[in-house]
Amino acid sequence: MGKVWLVGAGPGAADLLTLRAARVIASADIVFHDALVQPDVLALASRARLVDVGKRDGRHSTEQRFINRAIVEAARTHPVVVRLKGGDPMVYGRAQEELDALAAAGIATEVVPGITSALAASASLGISLTRRGAARHVAFVTPRTGAGEAASDWLAAAASADTVALYMASRQAPAIAAALVGAGRSPATPACVVENASLATERIATTTLGALAGHSPLALEGPAVLLVGEVFREARAARPNLPWTPAAQSGSIGPERRLLAGR
Ligand code: SAH
Repeated sequence: MGKVWLVGAGPGAADLLTLRAARVIASADIVFHDALVQPDVLALASRARLVDVGKRDGRHSTEQRFINRAIVEAARTHPVVVRLKGGDPMVYGRAQEELDALAAAGIATEVVPGITSALAASASLGISLTRRGAARHVAFVTPRTGAGEAASDWLAAAASADTVALYMASRQAPAIAAALVGAGRSPATPACVVENASLATERIATTTLGALAGHSPLALEGPAVLLVGEVFREARAARPNLPWTPAAQSGSIGPERRLLAGR
């Protein structure tokens, strides 16, 4: 029987992998990876068969069952099975379902953490999510619920935490901002959207909840986190911008890779 490693691929840049992740990926016999994992991370799996199990919208639950079965089966014939997930595997990564399925089949597992996208975005912004005196709590929130899941009270958490990092939320960012204002957060609260955090294609937009609430849907090209809280006031002072400029212009912005209208 093989062992299954749930490995965090980090936000994108290959040199943000942990040394442990790189070592395990290099020793893998088979790698089941998400759509968001970058080619240069996959290239480290030099001896492995690569299986893309990237999920498509609306088909999550069926495909998750398929993935659970596939990694259990793979462990019967491969000594080192890697399940490679973007960011940290334990943050909105369906890791628990996979760990449960593997435990039920009596298969050994180990989790290798990765840098979750909210923390990569914090680094890119140069803004601490827990800045002393301004933020004592951070909430990781998603408004997304899977098919058949009970609605979650995401809004209560997002309305009350000092700093909020919203995952799987950026496409509905204007509606989310409006809901937060409706739930009592000031329209002047700073907000940032960070797309493709850590990659050369990274884009950052800064705004306020009030302005975002009245904005048309953001034209996004990659995964993005929506960050909300007073700590982002300085990011906003440095880059008071929305909407996005076209991605094609990002090269002209220079080494900072900021992609902002009106800069
Ligand atoms: N396990 C991942 C999250 C998976 S859910 C992690 O820890 O980061 C997918 C969501 O993650 C996306 O909708 C987006 O909100 C966020 N995300 C993933 N990669 C990102 C990146 N490079 N930049 C910004 N957001 C990212």
